[in-house]
Amino acid sequence: MKRIFMQISLALMLLIAGIGVVGLLHYNYLGILFIITGVAILSLPLIQLIHSNKLLDQEKDELQNRFTTIFDFQAVGMALISLEGKLLKVNPSFCQILGFPENEILHVNFTRFLHSDDLMNYQYYLTQLLDNSIKTYQCEQRLVNQNGEIVWVITNLSLIRDQQNRPLYFISQIQNISAQKNAEEQLRHMAYHDPLTGLANRNKLEQYIHHLISMARRHQNAFALLFFDLDRFKNINDTIGHGAGDILLQIVAERLKSMVRSTDLVARLGGDEFVVVITDVKKTESLAAIAQKILDVILKVMVIKGNDIYITTSIGISLYPYDGQTMQTLMKNADLAMYRAKEQGRNNYQFYTLEMTTRAQEKMALQNAIGHALVKNEFILHYQPKMDLATSRITGIEALLRWQNKEYGMIAPDEIVSLAEETGLIIPVSEWVMTTAIKQLKQWQEMGFNTLTMAINCTGRQLRQANFVESLLHILNENGVPASLIELEITESLVMQDTENMLRVLYELKDLGIKIAVDDFGTGYWSLNNLRRFSVDKIKIDKSFISQIPMNDTCAGIVSAIIAMAKKLGVRVIAEGVETREQYEFLLREGCSEIQGYLLSHPVSSDMMTEFLKKPESISNQLTT
Ligand code: C2E
Ligand code: CA
Ligand code: CA
Repeated sequence: MKRIFMQISLALMLLIAGIGVVGLLHYNYLGILFIITGVAILSLPLIQLIHSNKLLDQEKDELQNRFTTIFDFQAVGMALISLEGKLLKVNPSFCQILGFPENEILHVNFTRFLHSDDLMNYQYYLTQLLDNSIKTYQCEQRLVNQNGEIVWVITNLSLIRDQQNRPLYFISQIQNISAQKNAEEQLRHMAYHDPLTGLANRNKLEQYIHHLISMARRHQNAFALLFFDLDRFKNINDTIGHGAGDILLQIVAERLKSMVRSTDLVARLGGDEFVVVITDVKKTESLAAIAQKILDVILKVMVIKGNDIYITTSIGISLYPYDGQTMQTLMKNADLAMYRAKEQGRNNYQFYTLEMTTRAQEKMALQNAIGHALVKNEFILHYQPKMDLATSRITGIEALLRWQNKEYGMIAPDEIVSLAEETGLIIPVSEWVMTTAIKQLKQWQEMGFNTLTMAINCTGRQLRQANFVESLLHILNENGVPASLIELEITESLVMQDTENMLRVLYELKDLGIKIAVDDFGTGYWSLNNLRRFSVDKIKIDKSFISQIPMNDTCAGIVSAIIAMAKKLGVRVIAEGVETREQYEFLLREGCSEIQGYLLSHPVSSDMMTEFLKKPESISNQLTT
């Protein structure tokens, strides 16, 4: 009878253990639960039978064999552990996980292999098991193997009791889940880090700032966000290629990492935007010093693919809790401060001030107002003459945009253009400029100024517009003005972006006979090669160089060099911002083709320009005497 009972119970246990192994492969925890139940079911009758001493020796042996077989061939590590914690019996899988041979771990206390951080938890649950408060205990814990490496395991622990319910020993199962843990760790890393630079990403930054905010509320700690992007990074990326741009970002990341403390965080938000979080801020002076260090460290030369590259950055700083109580406000305000730093000429840092928000609000109001400006006829054009130095004759006029708004007064054209670009109104505004300037040129032609050219400033977005050439041609035809009298002034950075597309547009314009002038020449990355490639007609030396003549030898030298180089290439040179007679004489001597500036005339209304054109002798007489 007993034999039958034993066989049924063994068969049942084997079945459960079998299901357990299958479950184990698919559902770790469930599988282990099955096995432990199976082994427990096995152990109970075993102990019962062994202790009752009523079993036949043959049956005993058979049972012992089966138990040993199951114990030894389990894929998971198994151990019987004494109530004091010593390892009484271990299976090969258990030894393999720990990397020790059986004889070296038998009778050693199991806690010796446990990671110190998991010890307290383990001991707590042992007492719970002994108190009968819980039947079984399952957890993830860390063991330390023979090589001193951490092995993550799922541990199942149960207590075996005798018939009188007295504790006999623990039975423990461990399953190595290190691979799974590593994969999880990698996933977690990927979710919180930027793959290109290894810096924290936006998720991590958010998490960190929320953590800092919750800590700071309790401890009254201040922390700061330093928000920055690299000045003109897009230009560099377009010039030296994206691969090199990536290397540049990695170098910047390394430099940033090397200069912050372990409690600070450096994050890349994407593109060339970075945030450094400085914790435990005591004085704003120390922040200023850190910001300056960042500026300095970034400015150091980078050698990428054989090119020496210098890059600057502009930093905006916001401080918790003064400049914002939430991550969103702090980021927004640091961003506003960064824009101020860019306005201040880049390569500097700015602390956020309330005034910046006021300005941002004003800007929003202006963005609204610009939408109505066209309809309300608030735009006008002012005109500034250009003179040929060889003949002292007025050769052309530049059209400069003005916006007279009742509420905000006169708004500078650079600001109008950037507002219009931000609001997408740049296309209609530019079309208005082209139409008005060309109509005006027609009027002057009708007055007899037949050879006068009209220079119109163009933005990148305008040139990139699909039907730009067509619409310009349409305006010219409608007004009966020859294309050869139109000069488009473009800046170099504008062409450097999206070069191939730009080349196509520029060639189309040139085919029509329209002239191309490079504006603000000398302030960007324009190379000789580009001058040839784009076959521009004219370069305009930026007024920042002209204003330094004759006091500054370097500027004078640059201007002479530009003129000499342009002559060699057969490109005309015009100097803008000519205000003094000395400047005029210098340019004349150097062989500059044309001048433009207050010396001749400020930009003025069309009526005043008509007056000027009618008696140009006065100015040329003045200059030549
Ligand atoms: P820009 O094309 O370089 O224009 C020359 C700027 O220098 C003008 O400023 C002009 O008023 C100023 N200027 C002229 N002569 C002198 C001088 O002797 N001394 C000094 N210090 N300044 C002089 P403005 O009119 O404020 O225009 C600024 C910029 O706005 C222009 O720079 C141009 O880039 C842009 N802009 C003006 N009108 C338009 C337009 O219709 N479309 C576009 N896209 N941009 C425009
Ligand atoms: Ca211009
Ligand atoms: Ca200019």
